[in-house]
Amino acid sequence: MYDINLTSVYYIYRLDEKLMFNLILFGPPGSGKGTQSDKLVEQYGLIHLSTGNLLREEISNKTPLGLEAKKFMDKGQLVPDEVVIGMIDSSLEQHKKARGFLFDGFPRTVAQAKALDKLLELKKTSIASVLALEVNDEELIKRLLNRGKTSGRSDDTNENVIRKRLTVYNNETTPVADHYKKSKKFLAVNGEGSIEEIFSRLSEAIDKKLK
Ligand code: AMP
Repeated sequence: MYDINLTSVYYIYRLDEKLMFNLILFGPPGSGKGTQSDKLVEQYGLIHLSTGNLLREEISNKTPLGLEAKKFMDKGQLVPDEVVIGMIDSSLEQHKKARGFLFDGFPRTVAQAKALDKLLELKKTSIASVLALEVNDEELIKRLLNRGKTSGRSDDTNENVIRKRLTVYNNETTPVADHYKKSKKFLAVNGEGSIEEIFSRLSEAIDKKLK
């Protein structure tokens, strides 16, 4: 009797783990994470969690968190870990019944990655895959300056701020890739080409993982 109960608890746990499917879309600023996230969440029924979007929402609502975060964002620096981890924690709480999450622009430091592992573990789930969009630096700068003409984002209009964001990415965010390479969850995807071409590369990788 005791054995049977333990076995069913194990299967229920496995089932929960299987039901939730969490992805990280990784890559430098301008690599197309936002564009591809919109398409991926529609295709796979995931909740899109973009820390950049959440922070911009706080800024437009003029909350104390937003006003504090803006000081870092305008300089191309990262917002402190505890701020973004807190935002992700409450977003996960708000979507208790989600089939899974697509994290975009998070985690950006190893401390954030470790915190995310812990938060997901508490929910008896984990990251299934980290898909990393790769785009060369000159193309990134071109895309960001172009986006700046229409996005209304001040951090996209100043080339110095763009270069700073790329330096911060190389120094603080690329170590996050190593964190996930250790658990063999990391997959590089060519982020150059048309939106549809890149989307089909990403979908192919996800479909393989879901099989
Ligand atoms: P994004 O929209 O992802 O390009 O983010 C815009 C800006 O928001 C970044 O340059 C950072 O200042 C801030 N930001 C977004 N996500 C994070 C994060 N996970 N950690 C720290 N800062 C972040």
